[in-house]
Amino acid sequence: MNRSERLEAIRDRIDQAALKAGRKPSDVTLIAVSKTFPEKAILEVASYGQVAFGENKVQELIRKTDALGTGTRDMPLEWHHIGHLQRNKAKDIIGRAALFHALDSVRLGRALQQRLAVEEAVLDCLVQVNVSGEVSKFGVAPAELDAVMDELCQLERVRLRGFMTLASPALDPEDVRPEMAQLRRLAETVSDRVVDGPPLLSMGMSGDFEVAIQEGATHVRIGSAIFGAR
Ligand SMILES: *Cc1c(COP(=O)(O)O)cnc(C)c1O
Repeated sequence: MNRSERLEAIRDRIDQAALKAGRKPSDVTLIAVSKTFPEKAILEVASYGQVAFGENKVQELIRKTDALGTGTRDMPLEWHHIGHLQRNKAKDIIGRAALFHALDSVRLGRALQQRLAVEEAVLDCLVQVNVSGEVSKFGVAPAELDAVMDELCQLERVRLRGFMTLASPALDPEDVRPEMAQLRRLAETVSDRVVDGPPLLSMGMSGDFEVAIQEGATHVRIGSAIFGAR
């Protein structure tokens, strides 16, 4: 399959998974994860109607947003920063990322708030939760989420919109269903500190997005199944 066919097939599967779960397909946003792929490949996928693109390295986000911006009226582009961010790079995603998926500490939240104040800007953020508990992963531990949300919700320029998780690697997507269900349940327990309606849930990648949608994902992050192997 070429990229056009792959994108089409993924969209179909997203729609089917949403309908099967009794949800509206339009409630699920597909983020095409374009990390490591060149601007040319992004423009190709955008020409098939894809709007949201995900990057996980700040340098690459800067390069690509400098080159492509928010696209054109006929071909709009929206950038999502889905990777870990160092505090000293906080300034680099402001004005570039429409949604930051990896807010993983109060210290990073404070660095963003400080920088946002300088720029008189706000940033929509998802709090990354380490549901799988793997030590190698970033993210707030579930047991600390309540306390972390108390701190973060005082940073008025850091708009808490929801939550993100990276599920454990699994051969069978059913194996990660409990992690996704846990993120949804956790989100409900702290949803009073989320702005603009029910929490957004960013979960699900190429191998497990259908399960994620059944468990309530509002954003799925899909790279290789659209762009090809990295
Ligand atoms: C790379 C990446 C993805 C996409 O992974 P694929 O397996 O290519 O679909 C999703 N989320 C994050 C945070 C990533 O870094």
